[in-house]
Amino acid sequence: MNNKIVYTPGPTNVRENVRLARGMKTTNPDVDNDFVEFYKKTCEKIGDIIGTQNDVYILSGEGILGLEAACATLTESGDRVLVIDNGIFGRGFEDFVSMYGGEAILFSEDYTKDIDIESLETFLENDSDFKYATIVHCDTPTGVLNDLSKICPLLKKYNILTVVDSVAAMVGEKLEVDKWQVDIALGGSQKAISAPAGLTIVSISEDAQLAFKNRKTKVTGFYCNLGIWENYYQDKWFPYTMPISDIMGLNRAIDNIIEEGIENAINRHKRIATATRNAFVDYGLELFLENGYSSTVTAVKIPESIGALNLIKYAYDVYNTVLSTSLGEYSNSILRVGHMGENARVKDLVGILNTIDMSMVNLGFNRDKSLVDLFNKYYSLYCKEDVENEHYNRIQFQV
Ligand SMILES: *Cc1c(COP(=O)(O)O)cnc(C)c1O
Repeated sequence: MNNKIVYTPGPTNVRENVRLARGMKTTNPDVDNDFVEFYKKTCEKIGDIIGTQNDVYILSGEGILGLEAACATLTESGDRVLVIDNGIFGRGFEDFVSMYGGEAILFSEDYTKDIDIESLETFLENDSDFKYATIVHCDTPTGVLNDLSKICPLLKKYNILTVVDSVAAMVGEKLEVDKWQVDIALGGSQKAISAPAGLTIVSISEDAQLAFKNRKTKVTGFYCNLGIWENYYQDKWFPYTMPISDIMGLNRAIDNIIEEGIENAINRHKRIATATRNAFVDYGLELFLENGYSSTVTAVKIPESIGALNLIKYAYDVYNTVLSTSLGEYSNSILRVGHMGENARVKDLVGILNTIDMSMVNLGFNRDKSLVDLFNKYYSLYCKEDVENEHYNRIQFQV
């Protein structure tokens, strides 16, 4: 299992120093106050990276926990909730809202584009009676990036709280929680942050805290109740035993990002994504999206004659490489290249592009130029000065 090459839009590759941090001796997180300090510091570092003074928590559970917890904590029976839908995860919020008794009203748009601010504005002019809205930052199955800097302040103008799923964007795309007035921002450990799967990151604004407090009924459930975290630091008390090794790994992964600099990390993603998209188009494949490209993942249409599932099976069987297609109705038509976090390294990506190229050719695809040549061409065109200087080259031996 451990000799495979894995390159998917999460879980992403985990750097050695993160794996080692998870193997270090631990204390009892329930009784040792040093852990409370360590936990708080880790949360504060994350807050700095995502631009917020809001309370930040790390929850024990993969990203989906955050999505459900936000809906569980905010929704009371009969609450109207705006579900902004231009992707599979976007629409998925409908289930969490209705599961907790809310009435989900969908604002659905074309899945090949990012959310159009003007049409959202027009929609809100007619109907804005919502307790909160759900928005996906990067909807991973298709790679669409929504402009939170416009969407969240617009919703705020109508007094609508915002729940943002940034699991697949956080750290690979700009996220300014306070500036953009995001009430609940959600992240996961296993995407661009590049720690193993298992942790949810959540930041909660004062407005959201107030909404929890003003509930007329109690939250159904304990694990998904975000309200229980409020006084953990003053009380030196966690709702359940914290997965200390996971958090030590996450802390190291966050330090890796801080050492690189968040701006540098975001630019690294942008360079790689831009070159990847251009390379695929020149290669003769079509991108799924018309606009709103996230720097964390590229969705490429695979001709029916080859089939995306067949392509990844070939790469698996012949090149020992785990790639991923899309989800739902797109599972056999889209290949996803998950250049996020530790995957967003030129040295890894060129190997993957070569595998994709060789698999395509062997499955009958006609092309003039190799995908790697095209990637190199565009990468050096856009990022001349960065090629030699890739941060990774300088720090890869540091543990
Ligand atoms: C990965 C991801 C999650 C977490 O869910 P899993 O499907 O369990 O990995 C949530 N939202 C988005 C947009 C994601 O990409």
